[in-house]
Amino acid sequence: MKPLDCNELVELVTAYLDGGLDPATRARFDLHLAECDGCENYLQQFDSTVRTVGRIDPGELDPQFRDRLLAAFREFQR
Ligand SMILES: [Zn+2]
Repeated sequence: MKPLDCNELVELVTAYLDGGLDPATRARFDLHLAECDGCENYLQQFDSTVRTVGRIDPGELDPQFRDRLLAAFREFQR
């Protein structure tokens, strides 16, 4: 089984937090988290943001908000 790469993880993070991933994809997601500190930090930050602003519908995620998260995520990668 091949882990997700960082970009795939970012794309799927809302589905992950909503429990919307199928078991195989979720396993690949967890596999990547286990080996990538940047994504682990990103997920924690995203999760606390979701808790603060309330439930996020992946289909209605504000593109600017998403861009900010992606920018923050890239900071972790340096
Ligand atoms: Zn990663």
